[in-house]
Amino acid sequence: MILALVFIPLERAFPKDPEQKVLRKGWVTDLKYFMVSHLGIQLISFFTIIPIQVYLHQASNWELQQWIAAQPIWLQFIEILLVVDFGTYWIHRAMHEVPALWKIHAVHHSTEQMDWLASSRLHVLEILANRFAGYLPIFILGFAPSAVYAYLVFVSFHAIFIHANVRLRFPVLRWLIATPEFHHWHHSSEDAAVDKNYAGFLPVYDVLFGTTYLPTTTASRYGTRSNDVPEGIVGQFLYPFRSWLSGK
Ligand SMILES: [Zn+2]
Ligand SMILES: [Zn+2]
Repeated sequence: MILALVFIPLERAFPKDPEQKVLRKGWVTDLKYFMVSHLGIQLISFFTIIPIQVYLHQASNWELQQWIAAQPIWLQFIEILLVVDFGTYWIHRAMHEVPALWKIHAVHHSTEQMDWLASSRLHVLEILANRFAGYLPIFILGFAPSAVYAYLVFVSFHAIFIHANVRLRFPVLRWLIATPEFHHWHHSSEDAAVDKNYAGFLPVYDVLFGTTYLPTTTASRYGTRSNDVPEGIVGQFLYPFRSWLSGK
């Protein structure tokens, strides 16, 4: 509710595509994803992984972990961003460049109109892969729970924001943090934009690894190029399994 109250007026005030309706094509499917992932998986991970993290944090006596957890919270917050974004950059890139993994991630890219709700369209296998890649370094390095909470709340909002149908552009900032402009290009099916802008938050990883695409224009065409992902949530859940079994 809060997310809808924040993002729908924001999209109305600064629409990138003013013609696009709030109840656009595929919104019912994405609302189901929103319910399943935010109310289900996100809460489960919040209430299971965080206690494990708190436990590990208290149980461990590693000097490195203690040193990391003793740093100021704002510094740990930045370190978590740097570490997790590096891992998720490569997970995301593998999802695009390994054909079998693309079948999982194609579900996220199947949305043809971008808005805040489109961020929820993620296959459960992708959520698990990202959780694993994201949480493992947090566990191992032993960041303080308050820094982890702050990070989780922040990236949850940010992930929704970069999908939103907003025309807000940030001249210098767009090279420092992922903006809607940056991630909309990632979703574009235009040739030059395909397999670019993998970073979730820090475009510096795309710059370092040669995958940035950030022209002065904005993206306009979205979706997968093969256009073979079915529309409903069940069909989309089955899509990678069907593709693997049929060998396509
Ligand atoms: Zn992608
Ligand atoms: Zn996306």
